[in-house]
Formats: sequence, C-alpha cells, structure tokens
Amino acid sequence: MSILSDLIVRVLSTMPTPVMRYFSSKYIAGVTVEEALERLQSINDEGFAGILDILGEDADGERGARAALEAYKVACSKLAASKLISYVSAKPTHFGLRTGEDLCFEIYSALATHCQGLGQFLRVEMEDHTTTDGTLRVFNRLLQKHGNVGIVLQSRLFRNGSDIEALLAKLPADRTLNVRMVKGIYLEPSNIAHTSYESIARAYVDQSRQLFEGGAKVCLATHDSQMAEELVALVSELQIPKERYEFQVLMGVLKPIWKVWLDAGHPVRVYVPFGPDWKAYSLRRLKKNPKLLTQITLGIFRR
Ligand SMILES: Cc1cc2nc3c(=O)[nH]c(=O)nc-3n(C[C@H](O)[C@H](O)[C@H](O)COP(=O)(O)OP(=O)(O)OC[C@H]3O[C@@H](n4cnc5c(N)ncnc54)[C@H](O)[C@@H]3O)c2cc1C
Repeated sequence: MSILSDLIVRVLSTMPTPVMRYFSSKYIAGVTVEEALERLQSINDEGFAGILDILGEDADGERGARAALEAYKVACSKLAASKLISYVSAKPTHFGLRTGEDLCFEIYSALATHCQGLGQFLRVEMEDHTTTDGTLRVFNRLLQKHGNVGIVLQSRLFRNGSDIEALLAKLPADRTLNVRMVKGIYLEPSNIAHTSYESIARAYVDQSRQLFEGGAKVCLATHDSQMAEELVALVSELQIPKERYEFQVLMGVLKPIWKVWLDAGHPVRVYVPFGPDWKAYSLRRLKKNPKLLTQITLGIFRR
C-alpha cells in the first residue's frame, strides 16, 4: 500500500460515521435488512434482479460464524416475505472457513436447506488464494447435497481453467454448474496469477467459453464494457439461452452500462451489500486493494 493510499484510508477511518455512511451509501445499502430490501425494491422496479450480501469476513471463531448464519437466515426469510427478486451470496471466511472446513460446510449446508425451503438460491463467494482450495472442497461437498448452490471463480488465477475442468468432471449427473465469473478483486502474487489487464480479460473470456461449452450457467460479473462486447458475441455464437447467462454488477458502479445491457435484452442482476459491519469491512477492503480507493474517491467527489 502506498503512502498516499495509507493516508486516504486513515482520513476515511477518522471520518464521522454518518459522513462516511452518506458517501458510501452509493455502494452499500445500509445496516439493516429492511434498508437493503428498500434498495432492492427500487432495483427490481427498474427491471434488475438482485443479490443480497451481508458484509463480513474472517468470522470471530465458531460463535461468529454461527451468528452470521442466523443473520443470513433472517435476511432470507424477510426476502421471501417481501417477494422481491433476489438471492443471497456469502463469503466462506464469514462462515468460518478459517476456523474449520467442516464448520464452514455445515453452515453453508444449513443455509442452503433454509433457502431451498424458501425457493431461493445461495452463492458461495471466492476470497483470496489462501482460501481457494478449502472453498472448492466445501462447494463440491455442497453440490452433492444441494441443487440450489453456486460458486464464484476468478479468471485472474492461473489455476482457474483446471478448477473449471475439475468442477465439471465431479458434477453430479442431475446438477447444472452455476458460476459467477469474476476477474478477482484480490491482488494476487505474479507467480500464481495474471497481473495485466489483457491477460486477465483474455482468461475471463476463454474460461466463460469453457464453462458454457461444459453446460454451465454463467453469471458474467463485470463492468468492463470492452470485455462485455466479447462476452455478448460469445453468447450469440454459442446460442446460449437467457436461462444460462446473465450480467452481474455492483450497486452504484457504472449504472449506465447496466441499462444498456438490460435494454439490449440481457438479464442483469445487481449486488446489494449491507450489514452492521459495513464500515470496518469497507476499510479492510480498501487497505487490501488500493485500486478501489481511486474508484471510491472519484465516486465521493462526483457525489
Ligand atoms: C456481482 C459481483 C460480485 C463479485 N464477487 C466477487 C467475489 O466473490 N470474489 C472476487 O474476488 N471478486 C468479486 N467481484 C469483483 C470482481 O472480481 C472485480 O474485482 C470487479 O468486478 C472489477 O472488475 P471488472 O470486471 O468490473 O473490470 P475492471 O477492469 O476492474 O473495471 C471495469 C470498469 O468498472 C469500474 N469499476 C470496477 N469496479 C468498481 C468499483 N468497485 N467501484 C467503482 N468503479 C468500479 C472500473 O473503474 C472500470 O472503469 C464481484 C464483482 C461483481 C460485479
């Protein structure tokens, strides 16, 4: 982290909470599930589906992980009662991956069962490379038991093509692999990951093809309009029906392009993060990926 980035993070951390909340409200839906559902309502009204995410990572041991499960269960029940169009997404370390893989599996599995009863889908997110193996093991176990779960894969990682191959090979016969493709938000070392824009985007398009050809549903999570043109061409070349792809975007980021995609007839889903941990979470993320600082600082000045 550069001295300037460090300074900006320090300034942000000393900002009074209401001021920081005002500026971050473009990207974060609020503290409570009710606030998140209100944002989701207006997102749905504009024709976009949603993804609810309770902000949090690195749960405080088993107790923290179980508390996260309870918060998700409440959010899913309230989401179902609201009849809004959305599902939920959760981070493995928020569900105790660093405490133990069995615990993490048990928690995702309990939430998948709860979601199944409500007719909802659950996505397992992907964090930095130290968690990739554990997350994939947990996800493979979930796939054996649940039909309403999906995963996130990062094109930045050299290993991603082989991970896709392995996931497709192990897929139970009655399941469709459901993947959110991302570039990967964590800046990984150059011995395990692509570091240039071109190679990350190339891998993204190639791996989306690999997934489509393997029969997967692919959620194209990006705001990169140049890469999206290639993805739209790929969808059209492979004649992928609307049930097997969608664009996914982050709330508050480059909304005009969501509209372009929606108006062109592509399904678009918006990620709506919220939760009491929003401030600490945002500061931790900014420290780990200073590139986000530029984007958020620009966002603040535009406001
Ligand atoms: C719905 C969704 C879920 C995601 N889940 C995960 C996950 O589980 N694990 C993971 O590692 N990563 C996740 N990501 C993040 C992803 O890996 C990328 O870091 C992020 O999407 C930026 O890459 P990009 O494809 O948009 O392209 P970029 O080339 O990085 O960006 C394209 C354009 O979008 C702008 N932009 C991108 N992100 C932001 C932002 N946050 N604020 C302001 N402007 C921005 C850029 O400035 C640029 O103009 C997710 C992204 C989305 C959209």
